Amino acid sequence: MSAGTATRRPLVLDLDTGIDDALALTVALGSPEVELVAVTCTYGNVTVDTAVRNTRALLALLGHPEVPVYRGADRPLGAGAPFLPSAPVRRIHGENGVGDVDLPEPAAADAPDAAAFLEGLGSDVLYVPTGPLTNLARALGANPSLVTSLQRVTFMGGALALPGNVTPCAEANVANDPEAADAVLRSGLPTRMIGLDVTHQVVLTREDTAAWRALGTPAARALADMTDHYIVTYEANNPLMGGCALHDPLAVMAAVDPSLVGCLPANLRVDLEGPTRGRTVCDPDRLRDARKTCEVALTVDAPRFLRAFRERVRCALLAE
Ligand code: CA
Repeated sequence: MSAGTATRRPLVLDLDTGIDDALALTVALGSPEVELVAVTCTYGNVTVDTAVRNTRALLALLGHPEVPVYRGADRPLGAGAPFLPSAPVRRIHGENGVGDVDLPEPAAADAPDAAAFLEGLGSDVLYVPTGPLTNLARALGANPSLVTSLQRVTFMGGALALPGNVTPCAEANVANDPEAADAVLRSGLPTRMIGLDVTHQVVLTREDTAAWRALGTPAARALADMTDHYIVTYEANNPLMGGCALHDPLAVMAAVDPSLVGCLPANLRVDLEGPTRGRTVCDPDRLRDARKTCEVALTVDAPRFLRAFRERVRCALLAE
């Protein structure tokens, strides 16, 4: 696949760089329709500082050390202390967030603050958050004009018709900062929710990681090793799945090609109180509004996504 001379849309990823964020980064670099112009980091799968380190290390490994990396929020809105990932999350993503695979140490550099960068995000940029929505909520709070100037924001998070994966109601990214997700979903900003409803329908197997390993490059081996770590945890927690869910990569691909998913237009909010805290749900106060701000993905063309994902990851791994 050629990048061609057609205009490549600028893409900014917002990552809490664990394993599926690493896969999202890789598929973005292998996608000819977009040019990754920056990564903003957040906490979630790891601390924000580990997310910055992992992102830099992966970008260098994948041959793109020039992509700027910004340091975003280190904690949820209103939290009194920096966020630390829980023991179950450290098992899923490894203590270092990338399946305990040793990545080459990235060049030391200061990571500029993500806030000013995001507040000035241009209207031509595709912005795809795949962690808690804290950075976006803060940017919308500081610059409300982003609600009308930003393109539709495709984010990984939430669940509408499936149970959560942290509690029976809450998906991890939303659970990590329900207030931020609620602020974004009720802001009026056009969004596209890539939640568990669709990400659990796209599964990567050990056959895929074996194919990457056979490519023989350091990046391919690292990606295969960390993804096998991820698959092991899925085999323990979701034995019927047969592999690991491709949460964050589906969000990137659905931003690049929205026809991959079928969506329900809806106005959503997030439950903030009681046992359903963190649940993404239709907002009764805006149920009859003619304008629906969120496209909630409920169906996905899994075979077409998986073909595109495999092709693009292979391109990125061979281009290092
Ligand atoms: Ca993520």
